[in-house]
Order: sequence, then structure tokens, then C-alpha cells
Amino acid sequence: MKNTRPSALVLTAAAVLSLIAPSLANRARSVNLGTTSRGTWVVVALDDEAEFGLSADGDTLSVRIEDAAPSSTLQRDGRGAVEGVRVVADGGDALLLITLAPGSYSYRAYAKRDPFQVCVDVTPKEGSSVSTADFGAGARIERIVIDPGHGGPKWTGTALPDESIAEKTAVMEQARILQRLLEDNLGVEVVLTRNDDYEVGLKGRCLMANDVDADLFISLHLNGGPRSAHGTETFYLVSGQATETRAAAMKENADFQSDPYLDQINSSVLDFILSDVYQTQVLDESARLARCVQRELLDELGLTDRGVKQDNFAVLRGTHMPAILVESYFMSSPDEGYRYTNAEGYRRVAEAVYRGVADYIADYEERMN
Ligand SMILES: [Zn+2]
Repeated sequence: MKNTRPSALVLTAAAVLSLIAPSLANRARSVNLGTTSRGTWVVVALDDEAEFGLSADGDTLSVRIEDAAPSSTLQRDGRGAVEGVRVVADGGDALLLITLAPGSYSYRAYAKRDPFQVCVDVTPKEGSSVSTADFGAGARIERIVIDPGHGGPKWTGTALPDESIAEKTAVMEQARILQRLLEDNLGVEVVLTRNDDYEVGLKGRCLMANDVDADLFISLHLNGGPRSAHGTETFYLVSGQATETRAAAMKENADFQSDPYLDQINSSVLDFILSDVYQTQVLDESARLARCVQRELLDELGLTDRGVKQDNFAVLRGTHMPAILVESYFMSSPDEGYRYTNAEGYRRVAEAVYRGVADYIADYEERMN
């Protein structure tokens, strides 16, 4: 259009298009909610930053998100303090409508970044008759995201000592077996962050898990280090600012150093978990899941127990749901690497992770029912 005088027709067409094509606006991509013993949280993820304001009218909270539009029908059934949520288009804005369950609540709206999210926490007022004891009642694990680490020509991860097989290939094999085990035996839906050897950014992996409203996120990796390094370790996200050495996270994150998304993710320090309502339960569930998986891996592989650890992996930091990162053995170790990087080894790792997840789900659903 430069150096060309815009015709009236073009302007009119653009104006019409902006009215009928909400995809041109800042899109609200997803709405999620969760509930804990402290209250219920609602999150709307958007493509870009937006101004927003919350108002209350009877049993409905409205959050007007300016100059935005839902990308599709966005609605969810309620849990806990919330009976239902939906995001609708309203005069060029997106309107988040939260229907409250009967009771007396405090609420606050705030923003989080990478991706930009509008969050609302709803907590029963002190002294109110609302009991949070059954807020999680009936909760089930229905959808699991498996994230085979790395991928594509540049992001190969660690490798066998002779470099004949890369981490990205081994974890893809494990992921495919794990997917089948979970789907066939537990009837859960499994979504893989990649289905083959291609590049997926860290932010893309997080967004995918959030977009499909996954109940669990499991990132599969294999460790690398000096030839003598060995053992099994499972990570979940740190709570608060980590001060300890974070060698493992730095290594996994470093593989994505040129990832355009990494800077954005790094810029947000423990972004989502600053929500009080969210923090306690999701970290607690992540720790429980990590312990179940670590136990089964130790049982199956019989390697040194390097422990369940908290660390600051970007891929765990951007997700809303309980999330773990598994380093089942050291691929760089001549002993462990060659022993488990083969069809039999892929199967054994996948079966151990599967049993850990199954244990966790059985325990979770018993606690929630
Ligand atoms: Zn890795």
C-alpha cells in the first residue's frame, strides 16, 4: 500500500473485514479453570496483552477484555466456586462471564505474561457458609499431554557416547509406547506435543498443553553429562525463587538457546504459579506425580536414585496443570545409555512411567471422591 493512495473501496472493505473477522483482533485462545481447597481459578489466554476490568452483578462476574475476541466458542463447565465460564464477543471486546455457585466470595482479576493471561481467583469469604472441602469432588484425570523433549535438526538433546542415537529419537520412541499404554489401559486421551522429529518451541509445548486443557503434563528426557554420571531423576517446578544450582534445567533449557520463545518464557519468573489459589495444589500434585513415577522407574531400571527434585524448567513453568520432567537414565553413560536405548529399553521406561502415572491417578481420584 505504500506510495499508493488508498481507495475508498479498500478502506471500506478493511472496515467491514474488521467487523466480521474477529481473527484480526487479539484472540482469546482458551479458557481454563481449576479448583483447590483454597478456591477456584479461571484463566483466559490471549495472543497479546490487553486492558481489562472486572465487575460483579449478582451471581455473575464479568471481565471485559478490551479489543479482543474469542477465537471460537470458549466455555467450560464449572467446578468449586464457579458454576460455569464462557468468553463471548461484545462490542469489539471479549467478555469473560463467570457464573458463581451460591455463596459469598472474594475475587480478584490480574494479568500474567508469556503467554498473556487474564486470571481471576474466586475464594469463599471468611466466615461464609461455603465449604471448600468438596471443591475438588469428582475430579478425574481425562487428558494427558506427553512431551517428547527436543526435536528437529537443531535440537537433538544428549546422545549415546558414540552419538549413534540422539535423545530426541529415544524419547519419541518412549512417548509413543507410553501413549498407547495410557490410552489402552486407562482410557485417557493423550496428546503428544510432537508426533515426529520436528522442532516445537518451549512456549508452543506449554500453549498446547494449556489449550487442550490437559490434566497432567509429562515431559520425557534423558540425561547427559560426564561418562561417569548415572541414575534416575524426576523434576517438578520450583515453588518461589530457586536459589540452588540448577544444572539440569540449564542444560535442557540451553538446548533451546536460539528458540525465539525462550526469552519470552525466561522473562516471566514463575509466572502462573504466583496465583495463591493455584500454587499450593498444583505443586503438591506435581510432587505426588513425580514421586510415583520416580518410584516405578527405580523399581524397573534399578539405577541410582538421584531423587525427586524441584527445578526451574521453562517447559514446566508455562503450564497450568501438574507437570513433571523425567530423566529416566543417563544416555551419555556407556553403561546406562547402551542398556536402555533400544526397543526393549524404550518399552521398559514407558511401562515404568505408565505405572507411575496409573498409581498417581488411582490415588488422586480416590482423594477426590
Ligand atoms: Zn532433554
